[in-house]
Amino acid sequence: MQDQSIFPEIEKLKTEMTQTLMDLIRIPAIGPENGGEGELKKAEKLTRILNAVGFDKIVRYDAEDERVPSKKRPNIVAYCNGQSDTEKLWIITHMDIVPPGEDSLWTVTAPFEPKISEGKIYGRGSEDNMQSMIASIFAVKALRNLGMKPKRIIALCFVADEEHGSTYGIQHLIKQGLFKAEDLIVVPDGGNENGSFIEITEKSALWFRIRTIGKQTHASRPSGGLNANRLGMEYALALDKMLHEKYSAKDEYFDPPESTFEPTKKDKNVDAVNIIPGEDIVYFDCRILPSYDLESILKDIEELAEDFSTRKGAMVKIELLQKSVAPKPTDANAKIVSMLQQAIKKVRGIEPIVGGIGGGTCAAFFRKIGVPAVVWSTVDEMAHQPNEYAKITNLINDAKIFAYLATM
Ligand SMILES: [Zn+2]
Repeated sequence: MQDQSIFPEIEKLKTEMTQTLMDLIRIPAIGPENGGEGELKKAEKLTRILNAVGFDKIVRYDAEDERVPSKKRPNIVAYCNGQSDTEKLWIITHMDIVPPGEDSLWTVTAPFEPKISEGKIYGRGSEDNMQSMIASIFAVKALRNLGMKPKRIIALCFVADEEHGSTYGIQHLIKQGLFKAEDLIVVPDGGNENGSFIEITEKSALWFRIRTIGKQTHASRPSGGLNANRLGMEYALALDKMLHEKYSAKDEYFDPPESTFEPTKKDKNVDAVNIIPGEDIVYFDCRILPSYDLESILKDIEELAEDFSTRKGAMVKIELLQKSVAPKPTDANAKIVSMLQQAIKKVRGIEPIVGGIGGGTCAAFFRKIGVPAVVWSTVDEMAHQPNEYAKITNLINDAKIFAYLATM
């Protein structure tokens, strides 16, 4: 085109988009690692939504997973035919969400009871990743309503298991051979507040659990035991300090420019206040600049644990949960990067920035197989936080970018 009649059409769909997003928030899709039953119910709802839009073809690719009641982790691909069928534009969003976390922190509304307040839709999963999911679906709907055929095939992909390694999600789809090096891939699962940031590279990720084993005893007689809670905290703090001091390099290409090392989750220990815990479990999430070697960092972590065990008498064990080495960046001159840059300039009138963020999205798996992929969306970065929300203006304006991309 560039035919801009598509924009008023998207504006007209605002109420429907908002309602659909709220409907999806009501269906939690939590992975089994976090005690959830997976994505099946949400996938079924989504299929009804997609059928109503009228895609040319909708295909399910289920991955088997014994840990969920349905035994399957669903993945959906919805195709909309284009003027040419040789090239595909993929928009990939994930159905699964992280658990709400501490209930009392959800002060605006309960996590699965969506609420609109001051132009924001509150609820777990609203921004991560349903805002982009709805934006991509309604971009296609707007094109359909106007009888416009996209330039190339639009394939919307809705995946499972993004929050826990993507084995049953995008990795499963990649194994089916769906993607080609010349495909255009957008993963709208990260970005910044005005939508100027295009992510083409990422940090490496290291997730591990620290298990500290002491000796349980009565709290009134600590000398008879070994307080794993205290020792676990001491080790975690020592580790935190060591990692930040030793691996402190900055790379301004990234946001934030430094590596991050964060103690996050803590497992429940004893049931009573008057028991000294014999075991303590704490988790770390580390996002590391690609210039650092993960193996040597892991070696440092292990060495500190051994040293600590020898000095304190408690056993400190490091259990690796995820180690992903940052793949080669997407070429800054790749077709999808320049298309998106152009779309952002035209539709928003702003200058796009190309760079790296924390990573850990589906895009990494494409970069690993040498398929260029960009991460882009307009978000307040509310993902995984209490009172997560999606701005309705972002929902509408990102749909406009997707629709524009479809026609260029
Ligand atoms: Zn996400």
